[in-house]
Amino acid sequence: METISSVRGFKDILPGEVEKWRYAEEKAREIFSCFGVREIQIPILEKTELFQRGIGETTDIVEKEMYTFTDRGNESLTLRPEATASVIRAYVQHSLHAQDPVSKLFTIGPMFRRERPQKGRYRQFHQINVEFIGVGSPFMDAEIIILLMVLLRNLGIEGLQLELNSLGCPECRPAFRQTVTLFLRDRTEDLCEDCLRRRDTNPLRVFDCKVEGCRQVIAHAPQLLDFLCADCSAHFENVKEYLKIFDLPFEIKPRMVRGLDYYTRTAFEVTASSLGAQSAVAGGGRYDRLIAELGGPDIPGIGFAIGMERLVSLMPAANESFVQNPDIFIAALGDVPRLWAFALCNYLRMAGVRAEMGYDEKSLKSQMKRSDKLMCAFTLILGDREIQENKAELKDMKKGTQETIKLDNFDDIAEAIISKASGRNEEIV
Ligand code: AMP
Repeated sequence: METISSVRGFKDILPGEVEKWRYAEEKAREIFSCFGVREIQIPILEKTELFQRGIGETTDIVEKEMYTFTDRGNESLTLRPEATASVIRAYVQHSLHAQDPVSKLFTIGPMFRRERPQKGRYRQFHQINVEFIGVGSPFMDAEIIILLMVLLRNLGIEGLQLELNSLGCPECRPAFRQTVTLFLRDRTEDLCEDCLRRRDTNPLRVFDCKVEGCRQVIAHAPQLLDFLCADCSAHFENVKEYLKIFDLPFEIKPRMVRGLDYYTRTAFEVTASSLGAQSAVAGGGRYDRLIAELGGPDIPGIGFAIGMERLVSLMPAANESFVQNPDIFIAALGDVPRLWAFALCNYLRMAGVRAEMGYDEKSLKSQMKRSDKLMCAFTLILGDREIQENKAELKDMKKGTQETIKLDNFDDIAEAIISKASGRNEEIV
């Protein structure tokens, strides 16, 4: 029969790879707890209006990348292309500001954008999102960037570059916008079709264009940093100063604008040249107007998103703790020993031991091979004689040594395996 494959740009994450994802998530959760960041879980589906209003009608995401459909109730719904708008929607809907003026939240999950799939770019991808809501101080900007870099470092990722810019505020951005529009008007013949449109609807979007001609135009465009008002300028200086306290090297990228309209002031990206064309592993920024724009109180926020696919591809491959191999394999020879093996195996699992067994009538050699393949620390061999004599051989698969253990008390066996396996783990460390 013909097979059915997954949808283009939608990827399976298979066992073997999934452990790396889990490891990254666990490390993230550990670090988040040190920074007082709490988890929030939000739906994958939202009203389309949320993203239109939150991200901006004239952004690439909203214009051409969203998975939007009309449901049976005639409502326009969208698979979330990013998490910030949803987190803020939940924050406002549940009046979280009334419970605590400062909220530090994280969420982990899939996002959907109908982009052209290529290496490092998928239509369903996953993000770790962090949002700090309620404080406008530059300490928050520095803290969230420090958190991001600590996490990436803890995952053993090297060769990263932190890029910073300031996108100003509603005070200083209009003058910049106007200057850019005039600048672009003089270069009409060098702009792509999209950018000709963007020039009038949302000129800052031109800064994101990947078309070579537009990139060359942008390389000479005015810079937002030259237009910052006194407050935005002081804010940016403080952020840089606080980052320097932690010896966090960064590069100022005066033409980095990021793909969403809601950013104000600090914008940042972390890139790794080893990722190739899709070099950004994480990005974020301050969004001091977004919460009010979504009907909430006029309070500031800042956040970032890490792309899981790119993150995992940057993590070093060899790390013992990614995969947890079984502690023990029970090789059974014959019907009665197999019944014993079944009882013992499940008993051990309930006691916290990672146990596996041979389910079919197979030779000892083939069962030992399976134990080896699963990389079990120990193998217990159970035959009729072992059951009769109430003792069996426990083989240490790494050392090749054997010892006899009694079978009359499963608790004792569990205890012995646990202490041996933890001794083994210490050896690995
Ligand atoms: P953004 O929400 O566009 O700022 O993206 C934040 C991070 O999500 C990026 O730095 C990437 O690591 C990741 N990301 C964004 N879009 C995709 C995609 N289509 N496929 C894989 N990862 C993505």
